[in-house]
Amino acid sequence: MAVHVRFAPSPTGALHIGSVRTILYNYLLAKKEGGRFILRIEDTDQKRLVASAEAYILESLHWLGMVPDEGPEQGGPFAPYRQSERTAIYQQYIKSLLHSGHAYYAFDTPEEIEAMRERLKAAKVAHPQYNAISREWMRNGLTMPAEQVQAWITSGKPYVIRLKIPHKELIRFQDGVRGWVKVDTSVLDDKVLMKSDGLPTYHFASVVDDHLMQITHVIRGEEWLPSTPIHILLYRYLGWADQTPQFIHLPLLLAPNGSGKLSKRHADQYGFPAFPITWNSPDLTVEKGFREAGYLPEALLNFLALLGWNPGTHQELFTLKALIEAFSLERLGKSGVKFDIAKAKWFNQQHIKQQGLAAWADYFSKEAAKEGVSCSQEEAIAICNLVKDRITFPKDFWQEGRFFFFEPLDYEAELIEKRWNQQTKEGMVAFTESLTALAAWNGDQIKPLLQKTPGIMPLVRMALTGNMAGPDLTEIIILLGKDKAYKRLIAFLQHSNCSANRSPVCT
Ligand code: GLU
Repeated sequence: MAVHVRFAPSPTGALHIGSVRTILYNYLLAKKEGGRFILRIEDTDQKRLVASAEAYILESLHWLGMVPDEGPEQGGPFAPYRQSERTAIYQQYIKSLLHSGHAYYAFDTPEEIEAMRERLKAAKVAHPQYNAISREWMRNGLTMPAEQVQAWITSGKPYVIRLKIPHKELIRFQDGVRGWVKVDTSVLDDKVLMKSDGLPTYHFASVVDDHLMQITHVIRGEEWLPSTPIHILLYRYLGWADQTPQFIHLPLLLAPNGSGKLSKRHADQYGFPAFPITWNSPDLTVEKGFREAGYLPEALLNFLALLGWNPGTHQELFTLKALIEAFSLERLGKSGVKFDIAKAKWFNQQHIKQQGLAAWADYFSKEAAKEGVSCSQEEAIAICNLVKDRITFPKDFWQEGRFFFFEPLDYEAELIEKRWNQQTKEGMVAFTESLTALAAWNGDQIKPLLQKTPGIMPLVRMALTGNMAGPDLTEIIILLGKDKAYKRLIAFLQHSNCSANRSPVCT
């Protein structure tokens, strides 16, 4: 059977970065196995719906380069892919569960349910919930005569439909990460399958759809593990037990200090985004995304892939294509993984380098144009090449290379104070003179001049770039050219002499 996987978000807000990892593993498996990656929008909880969330999810998937094979945008053989458009389908299957006695109507009001829970709590019952014992004293299709149930339904009394969970039965299933999982049904609640608004709950709709969409592997976060026994029972009661998918529950992404599940609060605290792309929430708050922070999608995916999966080798750098080739479910890890943003930055640096200079030169020229600077492709390539080891985010190219076009407006006073003395002053003057006298403009000529007087290099750097740190100084001088270098050195000499108040040059 062809591999079918799905990502099934509820469109209630931005995609947490942990969900991006879940999507990635689904996507990798589908592509590796020549299968289908399906996007299903689970929008049956009308109260929690956020209108712009679906578009946000789609845009995120496009940016990440993990476009679904089937979904609300693409359509496909199992359309529609929004659960709110599939209500007739759920009606049909709930009827079959009612008919077989695995589901029942329940008319209890929220107050009655609360009162039941309070009574059970007072009696110190371990699981105070609607279950095989407590349902016996509630108002439902199991305790009421069939005619009365019918009459109440006809009269429009609100009801839900619940799953009849068996008393004390051991549900066993094999999880792709956890191995065998056993759950005693006495800890489970008679879950609501259909709500009073006639819409299905997550459990019911998701099992029906997973079956109809021929999902072979359910890969999701481990917070869904406790729900899986309910899903197993539904597969069984709907007559689909032999087509139950393989369940794979992914361990949590942890906060950088390991103090629990990674949350937006942690992201804020450590200063990194929690979402793939910026989320403009309807309440007007704006949550920053990895895209806007300057991460490349492939770098983000490479980073996330290795948070919970390993290739079995020491290889760290992967394109999405290489991840697809290397991926296997067997290599998913069992324990939670700490989110280390420094590592994400490292991946970004590496992927930026891998993309080749021509593309970054174009980017550089565009950034330069924004400040009114025109720069040839050749020049842009040379500058990008020079600064490439200092780049974490694309914007750094221009930040690091900008000084080629703008002379320093100011210098670090502290550096000058520390280094400016008779020897360095004379050294700087001599350097400036010999530099302008050079017949050939290359590293072999320039480097020895820089080395002639000890202590002038930081001053030359400051004079030319306005900074204490930067790429190779000789290369900077070569690229800057004689005229610009000379002009900047003279300006610096005048400035330093004035601040040291030692020379007649400034008077
Ligand atoms: N709609 C669920 C969610 O919001 C899907 C969980 C699952 O993958 O089964 O995450």
